Amino acid sequence: DDSFDEECDYLFKAVLIGDSAVGKSNLLSRFAKDEFYLDSKPTIGVEFAYRSVKVGDKLIKAQIWDTAGQERFRAITSSYYRGALGAILVYDITRKTTFENLKKWLRELREFAASDIVIVLVGNKSDLNQSRQVEVEDGQSFAQLEGLSFLETSAKEKLNVEEAFLEMINKIYNVMS
Ligand code: GDP
Ligand code: MG
Repeated sequence: DDSFDEECDYLFKAVLIGDSAVGKSNLLSRFAKDEFYLDSKPTIGVEFAYRSVKVGDKLIKAQIWDTAGQERFRAITSSYYRGALGAILVYDITRKTTFENLKKWLRELREFAASDIVIVLVGNKSDLNQSRQVEVEDGQSFAQLEGLSFLETSAKEKLNVEEAFLEMINKIYNVMS
């Protein structure tokens, strides 16, 4: 929404990262548009979406970047990370490999992103508890070890999505102000 441009107090970039099909695009569409899509269209990703939120008396506009499926080929370039103040790092609680790959994503973040980037770890698809392969405690201890915030979310059931993005936005705001 361009009408916010003159009025917002802060504008910043954040990125979504994590393995293919963990739910990055749906987390973003849920947060930015309150929409969810049952089928994945990995090659038709939007470049980014905006959402403005109030923190205290400040209006903050977050520009959140999504991949267009490049993560499938490990082909995310450094420009994707350039200038990002925050990252939502996503895994799928029903696929252990997506959790095991978090280390690779952190390594990439530390190579290409700013050293003080705010990172929120998200275990998505919490609605599929019956197919769970990663325990909540495993997510928690990994996050603690790496100094990240952590939440489990469901883009489908609209659980904790708002909270995850707001956690990142609030932390960025505290760093900036
Ligand atoms: P991306 O490749 O990381 O962007 O993942 P997508 O957002 O395209 O989602 C991949 C698939 O997972 C799609 O079929 C989505 O409908 C599904 N999905 C995403 N989030 C959730 C969720 O919270 N719960 C469930 N059950 N499915 C989800
Ligand atoms: Mg996607």
